[in-house]
Amino acid sequence: MNIQDWLRHASEVLREAECPDPQTDSRWIAEDTLSMSSTELSFEANQELEAESLERLNERLRRRAQGEPVQYILESAYFMGQRFYVDQRVLIPRQDTETLVESIIVALRQMSSEAPEVLDLCTGSGAVGLSVKTLVPQARVTLTDISRDALEVARRNAHLLNAEAEIRHGDLFQAVGKNQYDLIASNPPYIPHGDLPMLQREVRREPAIALDGGQDGLDFYRRLTAEAAAHLKPAGFLFLEVGMGEAEAVLKMTVESIESSQAGVINDLNGIPRVVWARSV
Ligand code: GLN
Repeated sequence: MNIQDWLRHASEVLREAECPDPQTDSRWIAEDTLSMSSTELSFEANQELEAESLERLNERLRRRAQGEPVQYILESAYFMGQRFYVDQRVLIPRQDTETLVESIIVALRQMSSEAPEVLDLCTGSGAVGLSVKTLVPQARVTLTDISRDALEVARRNAHLLNAEAEIRHGDLFQAVGKNQYDLIASNPPYIPHGDLPMLQREVRREPAIALDGGQDGLDFYRRLTAEAAAHLKPAGFLFLEVGMGEAEAVLKMTVESIESSQAGVINDLNGIPRVVWARSV
């Protein structure tokens, strides 16, 4: 069997298993397993596969067909143009969340502080905070999570990306005592509890602790906005990623607790309100 034959076979297997992106996933598995770029894969389409490679490819294909996200199988996810290590201990970084990071970068560039202190609450894989650190190297970044498992993944990513960050364990602000920050960011769990069983098969493989936002999905925003003001420096920013249909409620809570007229909502690339922000006085 050559590469092209395998790709065809794999796409067919994944299509039958009702995976959403059969071709992309097959190519991604092949690129990673054979250590080839996308271009090499196309040029070498007629290359015969050795028994050992074929076995590894098929093992990964089998896992994918059973509903495991391709990012967990390959232990990698691309976010803001960088490769992150991921496994089943963390949520897979989403493209939607790049809107959060881009908004933060714009805000940090406006700030006068030479070394702004940034807090990423519910960091998971570290995707948000570590991207900020790589793009704004002068920032001092703290990552927190209630999951020690997630923090191990975040630490590994800090190392892989050569991005310095302080890593603290704890439930939201409990992880940082009375510390104050120039910018607080979070992509907290925000799926309404009752929606969890209806999620895509792949998403149900992700840690429920990273998704479950309580009965109406807003539990973490209530706690975050109630406590954020005490942890923001003067003229400090709060940036929250929100789920579909949640922006209005979260903006209201944010404005009430930060007591600032500088606040707003930013849409993602699909035009969906995705980020709520506010600036303290
Ligand atoms: N964006 C994720 C999803 O829709 C949810 C992430 C979260 O709860 N913060 O599956």
